[in-house]
Amino acid sequence: MSTVNAYAAHSATDALRPTVIERRDVGPRDVLIEIKFAGICHSDIHTVRGEWGEASYPLAPGHEIAGIVAEVGSEVTKYAVGDRVGVGCMVNSCGECVNCRKGEEQFCVKGNIGTYGSVDRDGTITQGGYSTHIVVTEDFVLRIPDGIDLDVAAPLLCAGITTYSPLNHWGAGPGKKVAVVGLGGLGHMAVKIAHAMGAEVTVLSQSLKKQEDGLRLGADHYFATSDPSTFETLAGRFDLIVNTVSASIDVNAYLGLLAVDGALVNVGAPPEPLPVQAFSLIGGRRSFAGSLIGGIRETQEMLDFCAEHGLGAEIEVISADQINEAYERVLASDVRYRFVIDTSTLA
Ligand code: NAP
Ligand code: ZN
Repeated sequence: MSTVNAYAAHSATDALRPTVIERRDVGPRDVLIEIKFAGICHSDIHTVRGEWGEASYPLAPGHEIAGIVAEVGSEVTKYAVGDRVGVGCMVNSCGECVNCRKGEEQFCVKGNIGTYGSVDRDGTITQGGYSTHIVVTEDFVLRIPDGIDLDVAAPLLCAGITTYSPLNHWGAGPGKKVAVVGLGGLGHMAVKIAHAMGAEVTVLSQSLKKQEDGLRLGADHYFATSDPSTFETLAGRFDLIVNTVSASIDVNAYLGLLAVDGALVNVGAPPEPLPVQAFSLIGGRRSFAGSLIGGIRETQEMLDFCAEHGLGAEIEVISADQINEAYERVLASDVRYRFVIDTSTLA
């Protein structure tokens, strides 16, 4: 056991503050990672503020981790000291159930072990990436390709895979019209990835404030959802809508924008319900679906895809003492487009 510096929440209402957390000794199949950068995901905020249920404190969040391998266990085969690696939302799963065997560890029947706030196999509570080091079994470590800098790679470990996976699963590509609702951390990666996949991309944002950015990131069209005429203009238009909004929206209004057989896939995870009217679906054989991050194999595929297409996140690098301020800016939809903590400032 060793102790490392971290930034953690101590209750649902207090600001996060510097603290010290424990990391297990490096086991035979473990990798010790010196964390260089950690992204701030809206899920971190939902979790530490108890919006998804009671959290266990102190809790260091962070599941968009990029760093360098500092030590490997005696049986590790995939990684060596000095490798550029990442860790996303999971650090373990049962490895044996039908979903784990398919490489969809996020849907592990026994529940995947989240990077923070989960009960680990040794009974301890996992602690995340707002820290200087982490110990993870090699099966849940990803390789960051040389072409992507570590700071812009960190957000790919959650925002990247969470949007890549549904775009991939629902066939975004040439000839497909894809809308992205919400231009935040997930939304901006959805725009970049859908564009790189060859789809025609439309951003549906609350206002036109970020229109120039949206078009620069790869969108073909940009509409404000605060303008009611948007919903008339775009009725029946899209094959796929990816909703990344962190709050409850009027799902029925967005379902009306789908073509026959279109799908609205929710990745946003607001604590409130998202009520759906049957007629919004049956009127166009439409689907309302959800998607949770992606498996480890698909996460590596996403990282390789991003390297091949020169994609990284648009980031604002902050020091650890700016985390609380960054949370407020995320909540105010004032993020362009991911805050990334330089973990050297935790030293
Ligand atoms: P984010 O950076 O805060 O982006 C969310 C965006 O939603 C905002 O930038 C804003 O975009 C829009 N928005 C916010 N409040 C809104 C409201 N009241 N009405 C309409 N639009 C609103 O958050 P994120 O990190 O991308 O995460 C988004 C959501 O996905 C969170 O709920 C998070 O927990 C969830 N998530 C899910 C998964 C998964 O596996 N399914 C993984 C990661 C995150 P505009 O300003 O453009 O309108
Ligand atoms: Zn996340």
